[in-house]
Amino acid sequence: MNFQLVKGTHDIINKEARYYQQIESLFISLAELYGYNEFRTPIIEYTELFKRDKNDSSDMVRKQMYEFNDLGGRSLTLRPEGTASVARAIVNNKLYVENDFPIKAYYIGPVFRYERPKAGTYRQFLQFGIENIGIDNPYSDVETIILSFRALKMLGFNNLKLKINCLGDQESRDNYKKALVKHFTPLIDKMCPDCKERLKLNPLRIIDCKVPADQELVKHAPKMGEYLSKASKDRFAKTIQLLKDVGIPYEIDEGIVRGLDYYSHIVYEYEYISKSGLNVGALGGGGHYDNLVKEIGGPQLAGVGFAFGIERIYSLLKDEGLLPKLNDGFDFMVMPVGEKCISRAFIVADFLRMLGYKAEAIIENKSFKSMFHKAEKRGTAYAVLIGENELKNNEVIVKDMKTQKQTNVKNKDLKEYVNSLFGHDCHCHDGECHCEEHKHGKK
Ligand code: AMP
Repeated sequence: MNFQLVKGTHDIINKEARYYQQIESLFISLAELYGYNEFRTPIIEYTELFKRDKNDSSDMVRKQMYEFNDLGGRSLTLRPEGTASVARAIVNNKLYVENDFPIKAYYIGPVFRYERPKAGTYRQFLQFGIENIGIDNPYSDVETIILSFRALKMLGFNNLKLKINCLGDQESRDNYKKALVKHFTPLIDKMCPDCKERLKLNPLRIIDCKVPADQELVKHAPKMGEYLSKASKDRFAKTIQLLKDVGIPYEIDEGIVRGLDYYSHIVYEYEYISKSGLNVGALGGGGHYDNLVKEIGGPQLAGVGFAFGIERIYSLLKDEGLLPKLNDGFDFMVMPVGEKCISRAFIVADFLRMLGYKAEAIIENKSFKSMFHKAEKRGTAYAVLIGENELKNNEVIVKDMKTQKQTNVKNKDLKEYVNSLFGHDCHCHDGECHCEEHKHGKK
């Protein structure tokens, strides 16, 4: 029997899960400010959605997909990326019929790739991504860069490196591919088996081969920039100008072609190496595509999008000491003093939760020492003590864990009292009030 984690997967639990939530909610709230809506698509899709072209050259599609037949004999795949699913959802739900563009989608969730696990590389990992579909111009392209750049900055990353490249339009890419075939064909015997294949399927992909001998050959290959059409050059110049206008530092890197076949015009990636030298690969990246929606059965609609790996972001934030302080302590720990008081403690904790406070009741008969130990360990602000006297007098004792100050509070006044402790609205209209404003006397 094997009860271990599946290779390349990992648990995200407790504190770590809270940090993940923080990272995700920063991306989500920023995407919403930019007008994106969430698309929750299934994790399983028909394999054809990703294998649209049998000549697809990307490693992801050819070698890394979790592809299987279900019990009905259908070929399904665990999604290896989010963009194709968003495009499919747009087509299936006919979101284009109203001609109201751009369609702005964001997604978050697990994706699956059968890769060799190493630092920052998993077989199941989380991606946050956006797609901006239907308006084909550099403003849309650059808006995705601005959003991603701002998100990374807000997370605390400084010295970010945005690497950007222009793959041009179809004409530019066709001319460039011809030049690459001419250049690499005589060298084919010196190339790795994957590049031999790439030469046939998509010579552009040779450019980002990671095999050192191939990288050497790539150094002397023709450069994309020399093959860009006038229209592509002009569009790229406008893109760069916009980046300058908004103050986003960039570096043009002709080595960036990205892993998928559908990109055109711009592609970009963010690189970040921590002070201690941790390099988990690209934090995220994206690019423009012209034909994806059409390939999936929709109209010709251009799009642009990016995806970020949450694991990589988390591990770099951690390595850099940039994780924010978590505010995950308890507001109240309700402590029964003796077996008889457990029920009351249980009910008081629920009452406090309904007022919006994070509360826990101790539901075992424990010593003071161990109850306070637990409260401290859980970062509790106030202990609520209930002994037999308090039961009899319909009250509780609230103890400030920091100052050790204790106050007897009648059950009927508990709501007002706890609200006053947290500076929330005072709702007491008569009688004694403990809020900041009224604590010195009657209202
Ligand atoms: P991609 O869809 O390949 O452009 O990847 C987008 C982002 O997802 C990358 O920049 C990484 O941050 C993350 N990513 C890609 N592959 C993996 C992986 N195997 N494990 C963890 N994160 C990954």
